Amino acid sequence: MKNSQVFEVIVVGAGPGGAAAAKRCADHGLKTLLVEKKQLPRDKVCSGMIMGRWALRIIEEEFGEIPESVLTNPPLLAGHRFYVGDAEAQTLKWPTALSWRKDLDFWMVQKAVKSGVDLKDGVRVADMKPENGKCRVFLRKAKETEEVHARFVVGADGAASVVRRSIFPELKVRFSGPIRECYGGALNLPKDIFHWFFPKSLPRPRFNVNHKDDVFLIEGSGLSELRGEIGETLSPYGFDPDTKPIWKDGCTISLLHDDLLSGVFKPAERNVLLIGDAAGLILPITFEGIGSALKSGIQASDAIIKHFNDETQAASSYLKSLEPMLQTIGRLCKVQDALKSASNGGPDFLAKALRDAYRETLTIQEG
Ligand SMILES: Cc1cc2nc3c(=O)[nH]c(=O)nc-3n(C[C@H](O)[C@H](O)[C@H](O)COP(=O)(O)OP(=O)(O)OC[C@H]3O[C@@H](n4cnc5c(N)ncnc54)[C@H](O)[C@@H]3O)c2cc1C
Repeated sequence: MKNSQVFEVIVVGAGPGGAAAAKRCADHGLKTLLVEKKQLPRDKVCSGMIMGRWALRIIEEEFGEIPESVLTNPPLLAGHRFYVGDAEAQTLKWPTALSWRKDLDFWMVQKAVKSGVDLKDGVRVADMKPENGKCRVFLRKAKETEEVHARFVVGADGAASVVRRSIFPELKVRFSGPIRECYGGALNLPKDIFHWFFPKSLPRPRFNVNHKDDVFLIEGSGLSELRGEIGETLSPYGFDPDTKPIWKDGCTISLLHDDLLSGVFKPAERNVLLIGDAAGLILPITFEGIGSALKSGIQASDAIIKHFNDETQAASSYLKSLEPMLQTIGRLCKVQDALKSASNGGPDFLAKALRDAYRETLTIQEG
């Protein structure tokens, strides 16, 4: 094992949450290491929409104007459309920047590096042990192991977080597993709209279609279970159900809202702070998570910076700052529950209720 290096903060995972947290710490003069298991730039199963107010505001304030090279063609969606059975489709106007995550995340990480963050990519955090007011972090690259130390660790390592597992080994986490399929060409649907389909006239299962550059993507949690419905729903728009995707991938979402809201799971302990998907902060209904990852990343780094200034306990000040976000998630969980009964009102009623619920997730984000 190699000799250990010592940092003030180690951030695990170079998604939006990790990039924001690492950059903020380095901007405040903290010696910060950002560790990413994949070689960068890396892609992530995600529609890549910069959706709600948190994402828009924090990207602009922390990273600046998004360069065109980070956005796709079309770069800007006009909004979202909801298709429920044979009801009239409902449209929600909401200008939304659209990206491939490999470009968006890499741009943010490069900004963090410019701020002085040390980056190790292609290096996995295999384990972590909080010990005597510091953390021992075990890094693995191929067969080599290295131990590094830090006063604080920020777990920004996504839904299947190793950092979360290290500090909450008993926590039982449920996961869902969305799939993304990428096809060449375009469907006969407006490219500047994000299309949400609810083929069983229920809020779930659902799938969505969006266009990026010269491909279109079909994404959803139950794609294999919906194969017949997808073919039937999309055939009128020019989809050939026998076409094979150019590529197909998937990921996990951790379903932690109940544990967060009941207080069974508090995403910080001692000198380890969890953010974004690692903390289960993805929003209900839309499953928007870039904004909450960025916001919690900023809140975690601010709690750490505060600790270095006045010795306040970082975990408790982070958990306190997270309360409004948890209240927002709680309110959206109630809207999500109300959607289940909206299906009793028939497809037209449900299509309008979905449009209004999606609007609520985008506009509810305060501060
Ligand atoms: C199908 C789908 C569509 C979505 N569409 C949108 C959307 O349009 N807009 C939106 O806002 N949200 C969307 N989301 C949610 C969004 O993708 C996530 O909420 C967001 O990426 C969370 O960011 P993060 O920084 O917490 O984690 P991530 O972006 O998941 O980043 C975690 C990083 O940690 C790395 N990592 C993991 N384990 C380790 C380890 N052991 N050591 C080192 N590194 C590690 C990973 O490689 C990864 O780079 C979507 C999600 C899905 C599944």
